[in-house]
Amino acid sequence: MIKRLGQTLFKKKKNEMELGEDSMNISSPTGVHHNVHVTYDNDTGSFTGLPDSWKTYIDISITKAEIESNPDAVISAVKWMQHSLRVKKDDVKFTPTATTIKEESDAIEHVLENGRDECNAVPFNSLSVCDKKAATESTDCEEESTSKPAKDIVTDVVDNVKVDETASPVQVRRKPCSKMSDEEVIEKLRQICSPENPEHILDRDNEIGSGASGTVFIARDKSKGIKVAIKDIDLDKQPKKELILTEIKVMKDLHHENLVNFLDAYLLENHLWVVMELLDGGPLTDVVTETVMKEPQIAAVCHKALLGINYLHENGVIHRDIKSDNVLLGKDGSVKVTDFGFCANIQGDEKRQTMVGTPYWMAPEVVNRKQYDKKVDIWSLGIMAIEMIEGEPPYLKETPLRALYLIASNGKPSIPTWQKLSPEFQDFLNRCLEVDIEKRASSEELLQHKFLAKAVSTTTLKPLIEAAQRILDKRISHTN
Ligand code: ATP
Ligand code: MG
Repeated sequence: MIKRLGQTLFKKKKNEMELGEDSMNISSPTGVHHNVHVTYDNDTGSFTGLPDSWKTYIDISITKAEIESNPDAVISAVKWMQHSLRVKKDDVKFTPTATTIKEESDAIEHVLENGRDECNAVPFNSLSVCDKKAATESTDCEEESTSKPAKDIVTDVVDNVKVDETASPVQVRRKPCSKMSDEEVIEKLRQICSPENPEHILDRDNEIGSGASGTVFIARDKSKGIKVAIKDIDLDKQPKKELILTEIKVMKDLHHENLVNFLDAYLLENHLWVVMELLDGGPLTDVVTETVMKEPQIAAVCHKALLGINYLHENGVIHRDIKSDNVLLGKDGSVKVTDFGFCANIQGDEKRQTMVGTPYWMAPEVVNRKQYDKKVDIWSLGIMAIEMIEGEPPYLKETPLRALYLIASNGKPSIPTWQKLSPEFQDFLNRCLEVDIEKRASSEELLQHKFLAKAVSTTTLKPLIEAAQRILDKRISHTN
């Protein structure tokens, strides 16, 4: 879909980054770049500490005047990109524990500030050969070095970047240092999963789609006669199985009308079946990209999503990936937030420094790597409201690096149809898209906002859902 081009490029790039895994050769370390400490020299107007390919990528994404006006925002954007390219998407799909978040945050700091990680320091064009596992393992692990000619892989986003043929990048492979063995994790999973054979309980039917961690199917619960969704996760393909444990524990404990609720989990050989409520209306993305929503409908979706978010926040959980793709709809118009795999468990008001989320929905404090808290979800909700107005989030057509730069430097994005919005909606957006975290509304405050009083019943979404499914030829159905 053209509208989502920027996002697709970003996802694609991350996928391509993983291609080199099978073909890595181990060799002695040569041409190691130890220093990625990035600074901006005001006198020369250039960055130091960056490989040439990154400099070229900056040149094609951000103008000289923009760099001069806000070099810090460029550095933040580059650091986020470097980090995101190192994080394998499977790793970020599961709820990080306090320990793994701390480790990840420390590792990012270490790498970005001290330039210790060679994987991160390789020229941009060869980032795709970085070892997936190495990317997020703790820095204490044993290391080996691998090399691959820089010219081998050129990613989409950097199609126009000149490849430095002479560079000899070295990636570091760290041995996984999981605290539990795979067998121990499977044993623990067995204890929290229902003991029955799921095939006796569920009739598995059509595939809905697949994501980073597994494939989602429709199924019918034989005894209850209800339709459910199953996420089938092949445990053999999950390098960090212990994170799945946390994921399931979190999902089991959280139940709310506006969350896609967990129903059960089963182990079938090496596959984990996570059974969830089925939302047969598809993601909100389909509605925003294909149809035009009216303000009272937008208020209704914001209200329901906010109820789900508020429940997560009350339970010490930050979602960190609020966007229309993660709001699923029922054909009856029900609205539910999904993908807790991206959540961070927080205690009270403890702040997090890890950079996660999808660039276009990210709050400025996340891009700028300041400490952040639950309020990042409120910013993302504001961006999701823009999706409902405009059909896409701001900067979607920009490269991810430029989008990050614009988020870091512009603050609240401009909305082309701003003048057409009601004063209540304008104020609601202002409360969500407030750069100052202290001034940004909390979920509790927003639930009292007068814009939400404009909400109509979500059953009014039914024609929009049907129209979007018709246009996209996507109908979630059960053959039985
Ligand atoms: P990501 O890996 O980033 O989460 P994703 O959301 O596309 O990507 P999955 O979460 O595995 O991947 O979902 C795969 C597909 O199944 C998506 O189209 C999603 O909208 C759909 N889906 C997921 N959960 C449900 C559900 N409970 N009911 C209906 N459809 C669902
Ligand atoms: Mg998902």
